[in-house]
Amino acid sequence: MNTVDVVIIGGGASGYFCACELLLNDPNLKVEIWEKSNKTLGKVRVSGGGRCNVTHDIRESRTLLKKYPRGGKYLKEKLNQFGVDDTEKWFLAQGIPLKTEGDNRMFPITNSSETIAACFENTFKKLGGTLRIKTSIETAEFDQNQWKLQTTDQDWVQARFLVMAIGGLNENKSQWLQKITPTAVTPLVPSIFTLNIDDPVLHSLAGVAVAKGRIKYEGIKSDYEGPVLITHWGLSGPAVLTSSAWHAVDLFERNYEINVQVGWIVDKNEDAVRAQLQEYLELHKNKNIRNAVAFGLPKRLWDWILDRSEISPEKECIALRKEERNRLIENLMRSKFEVSGRTTYKEEFVTAGGIKLDELDSDGAFKGNSQLFAIGEMLDLDGVTGGFNFQAAWSTAFVCAKKIRSMG
Ligand SMILES: Cc1cc2nc3c(=O)[nH]c(=O)nc-3n(C[C@H](O)[C@H](O)[C@H](O)COP(=O)(O)OP(=O)(O)OC[C@H]3O[C@@H](n4cnc5c(N)ncnc54)[C@H](O)[C@@H]3O)c2cc1C
Repeated sequence: MNTVDVVIIGGGASGYFCACELLLNDPNLKVEIWEKSNKTLGKVRVSGGGRCNVTHDIRESRTLLKKYPRGGKYLKEKLNQFGVDDTEKWFLAQGIPLKTEGDNRMFPITNSSETIAACFENTFKKLGGTLRIKTSIETAEFDQNQWKLQTTDQDWVQARFLVMAIGGLNENKSQWLQKITPTAVTPLVPSIFTLNIDDPVLHSLAGVAVAKGRIKYEGIKSDYEGPVLITHWGLSGPAVLTSSAWHAVDLFERNYEINVQVGWIVDKNEDAVRAQLQEYLELHKNKNIRNAVAFGLPKRLWDWILDRSEISPEKECIALRKEERNRLIENLMRSKFEVSGRTTYKEEFVTAGGIKLDELDSDGAFKGNSQLFAIGEMLDLDGVTGGFNFQAAWSTAFVCAKKIRSMG
């Protein structure tokens, strides 16, 4: 039987990072990656729209942890051992400088996810790692402190450590996992998505965006500020995506049918908006209201808000009645929409839910078996969009590799 030190199941972000980290520190280790499909690092390659948003430039872990709707507590000590600074240094040491963009997302300066994928593949290969594609575990037995693993090709491999890195779980993967260990899994639901709103008039505004809007779901304690974008199927933009991650389970349970309120102005309270509007209308008293676009809103959005507020666009500003002003303020601050579904956000999405974190010790090993680890997205740990999910993959993989090395 072929004997190795570590078998890693899953040739994705966390699996490759763990393998490279093991081999960079000890090139004598025998490490194998078993990848079920015929290609590795598929998600890394498509990530961040092909640019790979490697991490997010928040260096302080308390602030960073606020970006994880699930699993933040578990991630805390991993980030203390391998945080954003370490990620930046790690990639730099492999010859890949990262750059930070205006919104704090970090990318390789090449702007290409291929740089990251090639780095992992080349490093792993150069350091003598073995990759088996179209391979998974058929059977797994743990006996006398060794794993005896049968591949799907009926090959047998003995390994001291087994690392599970199979990515976002689904029902099939969860069932498959039971072959290796009886594992409790929290409910699995999609996270990071946009909202479908069945309103052709709204769709006609596709492309209109506000830099700072507000998203609130009726009946759920929620309040998210950030850019909001109107699409030809509903609403998107960072405020929507962030809210979808934090309420992935709430929205799933409601079958994505819920009322959402959008605030197109967020910096002011209602009294301040009222006062500013009044002043503005007086200043432009003889203009038609449609030509007196207020609050720096996009013109198309203003026209639509007037229409929703049942205000004739030709009306002079001075002639606006109190009820019309009230309706205008209501729509500026709380436009209501019926959400009728969700659409996957193509640039990044993850599974919320996964292996229950209390099954694992602080290094990511199963409490029942210190030679079995789980890392990456298969855990009940996920972040909002912006590089946080890769950071969780790097941090959990790093701590796992460190633990394996410490166990000799
Ligand atoms: C389109 C898209 C874009 C994204 N962009 C970003 C981004 O820019 N920034 C960010 O932070 N996050 C991003 N993410 C999320 C990020 O890709 C994941 O969180 C991350 O890849 C998780 O790493 P992982 O190693 O846990 O899983 P994965 O990278 O999914 O790797 C798991 C691997 O295991 C393999 N596998 C599965 N089952 C088995 C099995 N039974 N046996 C053997 N192998 C198996 C899979 O084929 C896969 O190769 C994006 C996700 C998507 C879908």
